[in-house]
Amino acid sequence: MPKLAFGVDVGGTFAKLSAVSPAGKVLRLEQAPTQAHLGPAAFVRRICDMLKAWQAQGLAAGALGFGVAGDVDHERGRLRISPNLPGWQGYPFRDAFHKRLGLPTVMENDANAAVWGAYVTELKRRPRHMLGVTLGTGVGGGVVVDGRLHRGATGSAGEIGHTQVVADGEPCNCGWRGCLEAYAGTYGILRTARRLLHGRPRRGAVLRRLVPDLEALTPKLLKLAADAGDEVAAEVWERTGSMLGLGLSNVVMVINPDALLLLGGVSSAGHWVLDPIRRVFRSRPFGTSLRAVKLGCAADPNGGCVGAALLASEASCR
Ligand SMILES: [Zn+2]
Repeated sequence: MPKLAFGVDVGGTFAKLSAVSPAGKVLRLEQAPTQAHLGPAAFVRRICDMLKAWQAQGLAAGALGFGVAGDVDHERGRLRISPNLPGWQGYPFRDAFHKRLGLPTVMENDANAAVWGAYVTELKRRPRHMLGVTLGTGVGGGVVVDGRLHRGATGSAGEIGHTQVVADGEPCNCGWRGCLEAYAGTYGILRTARRLLHGRPRRGAVLRRLVPDLEALTPKLLKLAADAGDEVAAEVWERTGSMLGLGLSNVVMVINPDALLLLGGVSSAGHWVLDPIRRVFRSRPFGTSLRAVKLGCAADPNGGCVGAALLASEASCR
């Protein structure tokens, strides 16, 4: 039988820790600063001390799932490439967690974990095939085929953010140009906004009133400005959503999923980002899969650490 599991989801700034039942119920949730500059060994030590305190308080977990951004070597429990956590690649995370906590440990890409969390807790495993896209600083993705997370040959499946949508386009954080992330990641969205405002002092009056210093602009403020009728903010979302529609239509046509779920901070833009995606999907003449897919936004911002726990719980009872 699957047991209660711990989940850890680490980003560049914060790590989230959870204790999750096999059905996906969150029994405990905490946040801790990542302090990436102190290195991976110090991070593992600190997180394990927190989880040992949970164990001492009666939370008896049978497994640990660890989700992290980057190219994860799922088999060996290490990071191959970690753009957001410099110096963390190559560290034996799975073995280090296992040694300190004595729990079987699964290491997973953070987007895969978040998509699995949403698949189990929000979609209740109902669709057989699902595509999930995480929209934050970076753009990640996860693919569920026949009710199982599809990892691919090297565990690198689902890197939707680094599929190319424009030849020789905008620079991406991965070092390439024209990736979907370069337009739909937070930094790409803000780049679009600044460009539309630059040299046009009469445009974007609501946005400028809301954010006098454009350096402080965020996707959340862009949504507020669009809601308040700002034409520039609305155009930023139109461009972002159209680019997402282009990138995601390519993936939908390959996978033919029942459901497509947007996750992460930027997905809270809701209809501002969903409407242009739908328009692109509907505009394609050869588009059975694009018209069939159910498009929506996930509600749970903690899906990453919940999904990591669920994957660990399921792996430990196999
Ligand atoms: Zn890229």
